[in-house]
Amino acid sequence: MFGVIIFAKIEWGAACLQIIGLNLEEVEELVLKLGEPRYRARQLLDWVYKKGVDDFGQMSNLPALFRQRLEAHGLTGGSITKAGAEEAADGTKKYLFRLPDGFCVEAVYIPEQKRKTVCFSTQVGCAVGCTFCATGQQGFKRNLTAGEIVDQVRKIGLDQRTRISHAVAMGQGEPLANYAATIKALRLLNADYGLQMAARHLTVSTSGIVPAIYRLSDEELQINLALSLHATADQLRSALIPLNRTYPLAQVIQACRDYAAKTKRRVTLEYIMLAGVNDGDAALARLVDLAKGWLCHVNLIPYNPVPAAPYRPSPPRTRQRFLGFLQKHGVAASIRQERGAEVNAACGQLRQHLKL
Ligand code: SAH
Ligand code: SF4
Repeated sequence: MFGVIIFAKIEWGAACLQIIGLNLEEVEELVLKLGEPRYRARQLLDWVYKKGVDDFGQMSNLPALFRQRLEAHGLTGGSITKAGAEEAADGTKKYLFRLPDGFCVEAVYIPEQKRKTVCFSTQVGCAVGCTFCATGQQGFKRNLTAGEIVDQVRKIGLDQRTRISHAVAMGQGEPLANYAATIKALRLLNADYGLQMAARHLTVSTSGIVPAIYRLSDEELQINLALSLHATADQLRSALIPLNRTYPLAQVIQACRDYAAKTKRRVTLEYIMLAGVNDGDAALARLVDLAKGWLCHVNLIPYNPVPAAPYRPSPPRTRQRFLGFLQKHGVAASIRQERGAEVNAACGQLRQHLKL
C-alpha cells in the first residue's frame, strides 16, 4: 500500500501529510512512489519554500495528473495558518499561528537595519516550568512537527515580503526537548532547496538539557547555542529552572564548553536580571568565574514581568554595573535591547494579553 510505505518513513502532521517539513530525500521518495521522475521533488520544493505556494493547483510546471494525485493522497503544501498579528511601533510584530489540530503558537518578527529575525516556537507550551516564564506557566501540550516549525519562518517572510536572515528558537517551548523536529527544521531553514538561511544565523536556546547539547555538537551544523543560565549557584538555578535538578550547573557549563570547543562557535549565556534575586555582587563574581577563559558571551536580559511571577527587573544601573564588571574581567558581554514589549512579544511574554 502506497500510504503505508511512505507514511512509515515520513513524519505526519496533526491532520494530514504536508510537504513543508519534508526533506529532499523524503520528497523524492514521495514523487517516485507517485510515478513521477525524481526531479519533480525539487520543483515541488521550489513552490513550497522559494515561491511560498501551498496550493498544488497553482504549481503550473507540474503535470495536472500529478497534482491531482498529491491531493488525492491527502497531501497539502503548507501546515499552519495565520490567526492574527499585532505590531509594535518599532516594527516588531507578533504572529499567532493556528496548527491543524486547533492549538496556537506564537512567533515574533524582529526587523533591524541589517537583519530580519524570526523568533519561533518549537512546542505548544513547555514542560520545564521556569518560574519567570509565561510559557512555563502554561504547561506542556505537544511538540511541534518540523513543518510547523519551519512554516513559522516561511509564513512571516511571505507576510513581510522580505528574506528572513536570522532565526532563533526562543519562542514557546524547549527546543532540545523536541530534538528531532527542531534539528530537521533547522536543516530545512539552511538547505539549498529550503529557505537557504546561513547556519551561523540560526540559534537554539536551551534551558540546559545536557545530553542533547552533546548530541547537538555532533550534528555538524554550524548553528549557535544559547544557554539560559540565569543563576550562578545550583540552589537558585533549581528554583528558577527546575530542570537544573536533573542537569546541575557544572554539567551544563561543561556541555556548553564542549560545544564551543567542538564547533568553534561562541556560546551565549543568557542571564535575566531579577532584582534582589540574582543581581548581587556574589552572583556577579561567580558569573565571571563561569564565563572566563572559554568561547562564550554573556547576554544580560532585562526581565519582562509576567503575571503571578514574584520578580521585578533589576534597575538599569545594576545591569550597567554587571556589564562593566564582566568586561573589565575579560568576559564578552552585552545588554539585550528589548523589542516589542508593548505587544507582549518580548521574551517570556508570548502568551499574555492576546489582543488578537
Ligand atoms: N526554552 C528555551 C527557549 C525559549 S525561552 C530556553 O529557556 O532557553 C527564550 C528565552 O527567553 C530564554 O532565555 C528564557 O529564559 C527567556 N525568558 C523567559 N521568560 C522571560 C521573561 N519573563 N523575561 C525575559 N526573558 C525571559
Ligand atoms: Fe520553557 Fe524556556 Fe520558558 Fe523555561 S524559559 S519554561 S524552558 S520556554
